[in-house]
Amino acid sequence: MDTVSEKPLWGIDMGGTKLEGVVLKSVRGTESIFRDRIPTEADQGYDHVITQVKKLVDLMKAKTGLKPERIGFGTPGISDPTSGLMKNCNSTILNGKNLRADLETILNLPVTLANDANCFALAETKFGVVKQKFPTAEVIFGVIMGSGVGGGIVVNGKVINGLQGIGGEWGHNFSDESGGPCYCGKTGCVETVISGTSLERFYFEQSGNKKLLKDIVADYKRDPVAQKTIERLIHFFGLSLSVIINILDPDVIVIGGGVGNIDLLYGPGMEALEKFVFNTRLETPVVKPMLGDSAGVFGAALLVS
Ligand SMILES: [Zn+2]
Repeated sequence: MDTVSEKPLWGIDMGGTKLEGVVLKSVRGTESIFRDRIPTEADQGYDHVITQVKKLVDLMKAKTGLKPERIGFGTPGISDPTSGLMKNCNSTILNGKNLRADLETILNLPVTLANDANCFALAETKFGVVKQKFPTAEVIFGVIMGSGVGGGIVVNGKVINGLQGIGGEWGHNFSDESGGPCYCGKTGCVETVISGTSLERFYFEQSGNKKLLKDIVADYKRDPVAQKTIERLIHFFGLSLSVIINILDPDVIVIGGGVGNIDLLYGPGMEALEKFVFNTRLETPVVKPMLGDSAGVFGAALLVS
């Protein structure tokens, strides 16, 4: 038996409001020795967030009686492979900071960082829907379509970060000018067209009324503006996702997040996708995830497997 794979895996998911830690018993499954969360308290600044991480790790050590050799971290945004500085974080206090170096200094051990969508893709591959339903899949594209849109690529069990750390960042591919300006500085990114936030904004611009995404979806058949919003989502979802299939042709696509939960994406959305894919038929399975909120923290731990 492989002794390395029997080691506990330590992971921390750095969210905007909470820091969640897990110690998995081993790479073989989701059985945890520790799992808990503390507030990030991001409003108190970057240095405070770093001390909160230290506090969580100390708690993890105390509760398990173990010491980690390395810890995986799921983060918003990306650690730039060249400069080491964080970039593209929507929780902007991390941007421009050398998070890896600061964590390694305060924790006195090596850390591995990956963005939260990469962690999601990795966790669903190793523990979630890919493992359960597509165990022979080698190339997986995972995307979180929530208030933002993030993506990650896993090949043969490893995250593909890419030369610049932007591998799989589908959310900032160009989709349509109508999305308008994106926080990343570009215009018409996938995120500005099909994220939950942008769908609610589109509905408001068209109707003058504010409506939550779940209500827009629920009113799809009786509210013409809701119908327009959802039909636009379906069109640009198909168009934008076809780019991933034409370039990567993954074995499975896993779609998480609140928008990913909209059932219409798996009916009319697939027809829209098929129209734009460079093939006469669409064979790619596009599926919902199975791990729910746990994917982020499990994926962080799997970074050190
Ligand atoms: Zn963007």
